[in-house]
Amino acid sequence: MSSFASSPGTRDILSPDSSRWRLFQATFAEVVERAGYQYIIPPMFEELGVFLRLGDSTEVVTKEMYDFEDKGGRRIALRPEQTASVCRAFVEHRPTTPWKVWYAGPNFRYEKPQQGRYRQFDQVGIEALGVDDPMLDAEVISLASNFYQELGLQQVQLFINTLGDEGDRDKYTEALRLYFTENLSLLSAESRITLEKNPLRVLDSKRPEDQAIIGGAPTIRDYLSDGAAEHFQAVLSALDAMNIKYTLSDRLVRGLDYYRRTTFEFVSTALTAAHTAIGGGGRYDGLVEQLGGPATAGIGFAIGLDRTLLACDAENVFAAPNTSVSVFVVDTTGGIHAAELCLLLRSNGVSVDRAFDHRSMKAQMKAADRRGAAIAVIIGSDEVEQGTVVIRPMGDGQQFSCPKSNVLETIRLELQKLGS
Ligand code: AMP
Repeated sequence: MSSFASSPGTRDILSPDSSRWRLFQATFAEVVERAGYQYIIPPMFEELGVFLRLGDSTEVVTKEMYDFEDKGGRRIALRPEQTASVCRAFVEHRPTTPWKVWYAGPNFRYEKPQQGRYRQFDQVGIEALGVDDPMLDAEVISLASNFYQELGLQQVQLFINTLGDEGDRDKYTEALRLYFTENLSLLSAESRITLEKNPLRVLDSKRPEDQAIIGGAPTIRDYLSDGAAEHFQAVLSALDAMNIKYTLSDRLVRGLDYYRRTTFEFVSTALTAAHTAIGGGGRYDGLVEQLGGPATAGIGFAIGLDRTLLACDAENVFAAPNTSVSVFVVDTTGGIHAAELCLLLRSNGVSVDRAFDHRSMKAQMKAADRRGAAIAVIIGSDEVEQGTVVIRPMGDGQQFSCPKSNVLETIRLELQKLGS
């Protein structure tokens, strides 16, 4: 019979990594819920049109979408990111503003799989809708930065830029079009195609042959309206006040077309592979309107879980949590006494595992060791007769007998003594 492996660009996340993922999301939840963000669970697929609003010059939309026709003849796409879904939800439910939400979960992009780049990858992120105060930009950025700190990461660099308002962005885009067109022969073939669709995205090119020409390109700073320039300055002042370090980056345009004003990216300097961006975001003041809602300001970020964990590995922080149980019940009388004791302990909050299939005492003790239990509770025929159990610390320490009626308290005390 043929067997299957997971599809390219997808992986099974097994224990203890899976517990690390859960802890990652729980840590994120703690950081952002402390700041008043509420959990949202958007669907994993939407009508294709929702994501087409991300812009037709982004590869996420043009090349990487998992789209298909469902059995009802609808054009559907697996979500490549969650900001568009959150904005669609905002338009659909019209919550009061400011609407501050956070999410966690997988996205899907048909990319070339490699280390740090997957077809199914997880993100955690926040979105805040309905406020255009630069203090919100600063709050959003500070929360990402705070989260990286909570993970224990130190080698994270924040790059920040502004893309100006729509009018500024248009003028700047034209200036870039002119500049790149004048220097067309120096651009890579790929960037020439990008230029036709969106000159701004040429700045995103990582191709070595484009770097010289990109280096001499006009910068957005000369095209900023007063409002956009003031907004940006206020964001930077707030970051300074919070002592959050940043590097100004003229070339940071980010992948998706909907960004306005503040854009930012977090890069891990501990990662040496090609993909060092571990999170990013920005303002998208036009997106809600494009999805059929009222003109609404919005800002958010997404942090790549997979890649951020690679950065944690590189810095040797945020290790997988311990997945062992506290207690292992060894029952050599057939197993029903273990069933009874497991139920008692579990319903009182003690983590406990057991063996099955009538294993020998020796095999069960081995299993207790493998599960990392701090103590084994042994029940043999003598114990059943006497109404007792034997408690055996798995490391050093003497085993002792205790009456069954007192087993919960005794185990709790013993676990406390062993510090587990
Ligand atoms: P984006 O939604 O493209 O702004 O990406 C935000 C973050 O998600 C990036 O900084 C990466 O950490 C992560 N990310 C994006 N695409 C992938 C992918 N294909 N595989 C793994 N992580 C990704």
